[in-house]
Amino acid sequence: MNELLIIAGPCAVESKDQIIRIAKKLKKLGINYLRGGAFKPRTNPDSFQGLGDEGIEYLLKAKRETGIKIVTELMTIEQVKKFANVIDIIQIGSRNMYNYELLKELSKYDKPVILKRAFSATYNEWINASKYINNCKVILCERGIRNFDNSTRNTLDIQSIPYIKNNTNNKIIIDPSHASGLSYMIKPMSLASIVAGADGLIIEVHDKKDEALCDKEQAITIEELEEILNDIRRIKEVI
Ligand code: PEP
Ligand code: MN
Repeated sequence: MNELLIIAGPCAVESKDQIIRIAKKLKKLGINYLRGGAFKPRTNPDSFQGLGDEGIEYLLKAKRETGIKIVTELMTIEQVKKFANVIDIIQIGSRNMYNYELLKELSKYDKPVILKRAFSATYNEWINASKYINNCKVILCERGIRNFDNSTRNTLDIQSIPYIKNNTNNKIIIDPSHASGLSYMIKPMSLASIVAGADGLIIEVHDKKDEALCDKEQAITIEELEEILNDIRRIKEVI
């Protein structure tokens, strides 16, 4: 269990109170990495775009108050220059997997980077993109791919786990939240990913999910996360 990278937190940083409150609850569960978007790449320009610099400030405050490490998405070279040194793990979102200039900029910093797979990227494109980040600390993240069926947000490509493990030296984590888009699928997809050999999970969690400003359909509660963690512990005893 300890060797798994488990990252949890809301889709977006919504307020100082929200992120500190959630950080405290996650820390109590033994979670060491908090996610929360300050810069949100929303498909719809009318949707909540994130708190920007203020969101980063609140994440840092949550870190100071709880000791939890912070994981957040950066979308531009300017944001990387400004914040790379204060974030524990930099997330590069699906929409930026092909943004090679941004990837090259990341190679200048000695920071772990989560590189999310673009919606329709082949394994090869994804692996090649990781090579632009000239460090060995790239953690690949499968977050669901597009296929012909749009009943779910995306489809979790579970095969990516053994493929990445067999063909690269990178770690791979799974984001079941953006893969399925549905909270009832988070537990089965998380457990399946661990059985398939994933090195970790990044899960959207909100303690007041009905009030979440973004992606509330896929958020799980703190209690639901606790159940998943308990099941993972049991699975880890037998695999
Ligand atoms: C996210 O994790 O906040 C996110 C926007 O994910 P993706 O880049 O996979 O869409
Ligand atoms: Mn989200």
